[in-house]
Amino acid sequence: MVISLSQSYLCRMFDNTDRTELSAMGEFGLINHLAQHFSPSNPNTVMGIGDDCAVIDKGDHFALVTTEILQEGINFDLSFHPLKHLGYKAISMVISDIYAMNGLAEQVLVGIGLSNRFSLEAVEELYAGMQLACEHFGVDLVGGDTSTSRGGLLISLTAVGRVDKQKICYRKGAKESDLLVVTGDLGGAYMGLQILEREKKVFLEVPTMQPDIAQYDYIVGRQLRADARKDIIDQFNIMGIIPTSMIDVSDGVASELFHLAKASGVGFHVYEEKLPIDTQTVDTALAFDLNPSIVALNGGEDFELLFTLSQKDYESIKNMPDFTVIGHVTEQSGKNLLISKSGNQFDIKAQGWPDSQKD
Ligand code: ADP
Ligand code: MG
Repeated sequence: MVISLSQSYLCRMFDNTDRTELSAMGEFGLINHLAQHFSPSNPNTVMGIGDDCAVIDKGDHFALVTTEILQEGINFDLSFHPLKHLGYKAISMVISDIYAMNGLAEQVLVGIGLSNRFSLEAVEELYAGMQLACEHFGVDLVGGDTSTSRGGLLISLTAVGRVDKQKICYRKGAKESDLLVVTGDLGGAYMGLQILEREKKVFLEVPTMQPDIAQYDYIVGRQLRADARKDIIDQFNIMGIIPTSMIDVSDGVASELFHLAKASGVGFHVYEEKLPIDTQTVDTALAFDLNPSIVALNGGEDFELLFTLSQKDYESIKNMPDFTVIGHVTEQSGKNLLISKSGNQFDIKAQGWPDSQKD
């Protein structure tokens, strides 16, 4: 009885009867499809699905809530990812979405799925990294859940934060002629992963060979540890700056630009020569026969902040070493263009642009 009831309910809710492959929809297509059926009805739900955090009205401020799943073999590889680093990175990843709303993270809850492959000492290592991150970012670990896993380590994280109502930054809000600014540098975490995967392959083929990663310390660190940019939110508060829109760089700048453009109904011009790329990232990309600019635009997991800023705020940020103006907002909705070093224009696709369009 229960089954037939829920089946008829599902039929009413989602009236597609044919089988649709998820691969045909993609992650964002799937989320949009589900979101259509979950419009908020509580008056205090200010923002539901669609931004870096859900936003809840708490009277004198907004509460921010966000969640993240990390799966062994999909999001991390324990053969080269030390558990302590992974714990630190996991906390960084989930609170990065709170900073992306210009808020401050206060609490996290951590669920873990474990198999008997893991000892108490291994779990302690993971939590030592989480503790370090909690101390560093001023966040309390206040709960979670523990379960068994058959498919390797599973980590599920939820973060709660707060933001003054007048300071909140959504993905929407970018205005024509605003500046496009990114913090830190781009593409390092992706190239760090390429090095770690290469060394793993070498080790599996020749186990006596010692991994040679000392010369890649910066990019390997970017991949293994990751630091959410709380310091940037602190700087905004000190300088009295409120971006017009903001997102964190988890999937890569190209993908995040797509979200900002869609939510704000604008387009972007990005200047290739302005992209901030560390020399270690450039050298490693070239050694892998990759274009460093494509790596910077599409490499994920940098956990930097990408935001738009009114031109009147330029004076305040122009000498700050952490901020790079990489472009500006245009009125051409959904049209994101890369202006190459030689002055040519290319559409920025979330997965880079075709080889034939390269300089
Ligand atoms: P981010 O990269 O910032 O973590 P995501 O791309 O994971 O953001 O998610 C985008 C939006 O979709 C967020 O508002 C998130 O809460 C929502 N979302 C993602 N997956 C689901 C899901 N399975 N059900 C409902 N909402 C989801
Ligand atoms: Mg995000």
